[in-house]
Amino acid sequence: MALAAGPEKQTGKLVVRNVGLMLSGALENPVLDADTVVAEQGRITAVGRAKDCDTDGATVVIDAQGCALSPGLIDSHVHPVFGDWTPRQGQIGWIDSFLNGGVTTMISAGEVHLPGRPRDIVGVKALAITAQRAYANFRPGGVKVLAGAPVIEQGMVESDFAELAAAGVTLLGEVGLGTVKAGEEAQKMVAWARKHGIQSTIHTGGPSVPGSGYIDADTVLAADADIIGHINGGHTALPLSQIRCLCEGCGRAIEIVHNGNELAGLSALRFARDMDQLDRVILGTDSPAGSGVQPLGILRMVALLSSLGELPAELAFCLATGNTARQRKLDCGLIEVGRSADFVFMDRAQHSAGTDLLDSVRKGDLPGVGMVVIDGIVRCHRSRNSPPAERIPAIV
Ligand SMILES: [Zn+2]
Repeated sequence: MALAAGPEKQTGKLVVRNVGLMLSGALENPVLDADTVVAEQGRITAVGRAKDCDTDGATVVIDAQGCALSPGLIDSHVHPVFGDWTPRQGQIGWIDSFLNGGVTTMISAGEVHLPGRPRDIVGVKALAITAQRAYANFRPGGVKVLAGAPVIEQGMVESDFAELAAAGVTLLGEVGLGTVKAGEEAQKMVAWARKHGIQSTIHTGGPSVPGSGYIDADTVLAADADIIGHINGGHTALPLSQIRCLCEGCGRAIEIVHNGNELAGLSALRFARDMDQLDRVILGTDSPAGSGVQPLGILRMVALLSSLGELPAELAFCLATGNTARQRKLDCGLIEVGRSADFVFMDRAQHSAGTDLLDSVRKGDLPGVGMVVIDGIVRCHRSRNSPPAERIPAIV
């Protein structure tokens, strides 16, 4: 059963030493020449070689035992409802299970699975504000769930977006899941949202469940949302020619999800790489969904894109961390001073054919998760969900 936590503050000083592979989350420099990280008040205060870091006065010391350390994984596309419960598959504890898959931050693409979800404008706004507040106050397993993502409905005017923004709402749920489906109408609302500091995502492809819509490339381009949500469909993808148009026809973020079409996802990766725009690619699961919830979904995406997509594993991890943080302007996702101290420790899974962590991922195996830290606080030890890691960190 999930341990609930509010946004607790780290006290004292965390020192992580003996990191065997420091993954930065940054495409331009994915592996750091470092074996030590220090965090205070939930923030990274030093990264480097042990001799160059001030490690005195530590209250918690983690010996990584040679494991890899990556920024905590970010799931760019989830559909939470309340707490750690999802009505989609009647599950409790799903977010805590994602923590065991290395996920430290989740971003709501709309609380659309709420039974009886309101569609009238005042109800839409009330739900968004309630969800934003509830997840700001309650972190299942310690996971940061950025929620309160209203699905736009016909009749909304600019003052509705101003009101949402003033109330603390920073996200729009998937455009297209409500009554607004036409490109021009969506574009007007997306622009109002952007003007008031609210980031937007659009549903791409065929309907996900009965009641949702079909959104083609022309509509996505016309709406001009910040994130091309599940460019590989959720689950039904657009033709590859349209996916190429989306990659080439705008500069918006390209989101590839687990609950989508894998061939389309691999193709989107290839289109982005061909344009040398890998920085636009971000990863999500689109969980919970008809295919269930996938606690290891982000790790599975990393392994899929690295193995079948032939992307070096150290770059694949960036798509799930630094890329998402930069596209979504989050303070986590990178191992650098000042960022949130959100870490996942991983090693090659026992008996993987790969010679080390990166080689095992490149060969399509999932890593073993040995520990997860959020805001400088240890949230879980050896994962109950990933295959067992060869080595795991120890608190000294
Ligand atoms: Zn969708």
